[in-house]
Amino acid sequence: MKSLIKITIAFYFFILVIVFTSCSSGQRSSYLAKVSKNDVPLPKPKAGDWLFSHKETGQSLAEFRNSKPLKPNKATQTIYLKPIGSFTSLQLREIEACRAYLEIFFQIKTVILKRSGNESVPASARRLGPQQHEQLLATYLRDTVIAKEKAKDAIAIMGITEMDLYPDPKWNYVFGLASYQKGLAVSSVFRLQNGPLSEKNYKLSLMRLLKISSHEIGHIFGLKHCIYASCVMNGTNSMLETDKSILRLCSNCQSKLNSSLNFDNEKRLMELINFFTLNNMQSDLIMMKGDLSLVQ
Ligand SMILES: [Zn+2]
Ligand SMILES: [Zn+2]
Repeated sequence: MKSLIKITIAFYFFILVIVFTSCSSGQRSSYLAKVSKNDVPLPKPKAGDWLFSHKETGQSLAEFRNSKPLKPNKATQTIYLKPIGSFTSLQLREIEACRAYLEIFFQIKTVILKRSGNESVPASARRLGPQQHEQLLATYLRDTVIAKEKAKDAIAIMGITEMDLYPDPKWNYVFGLASYQKGLAVSSVFRLQNGPLSEKNYKLSLMRLLKISSHEIGHIFGLKHCIYASCVMNGTNSMLETDKSILRLCSNCQSKLNSSLNFDNEKRLMELINFFTLNNMQSDLIMMKGDLSLVQ
């Protein structure tokens, strides 16, 4: 008799799990179908644009799932940011804003590690660049300095340098570099605005940092370049093209990321609205309010 009761309880529990799972995946797809109406069509690529010279085929949800994307588990569930260099208080404010944004964007706890000085990079991994300022070797930073800082619970870590970067002696500079399989990235704030960061160019600089960091970490979580709509996962050839791209993840890419990271889409949307309000980012706020009007 007792075993019959146990079997009955187990059966109802099983049914409950199935109902719950199908409800939440149903809610998820209905949310994504609604916000897809707010996707912005991708303009036809012109000479110089990424898609003009790169014939990309996109990535379907099935292809994304089959690629076995990196996802958090009990042991690894934190994104870390590691500042390297001497930063002004405004640059530190920008890095904190980036942390807050990534935490919302991926719905994963994001922590800023203790800053290291530029002396963590030896003379053999530095040079005086073609524009006559000192640069750091991005591959050394990524594979030695940042890799060493990757804590056991880190799913991804991104170094942020105040100095300019170069990837290889043949190149003039690079905005950043990542190793997707290893969950390692490094990017520089040096070229995010013309001249030093000031209150006047802060918003442009922050916008660029948010685009670059969410794009690179998006790659770490298995997203390939997007060809379906204007989206932060579009490939870009230059800062000019990055400026024309948008911060919003299109519904296609959001459905892929959501299938892997399992976040609450509506909670994420409300937090993005709050972030863009606090940081006075009007065009992104309008986009997110557009999404909200479709799901309410
Ligand atoms: Zn990319
Ligand atoms: Zn997309």
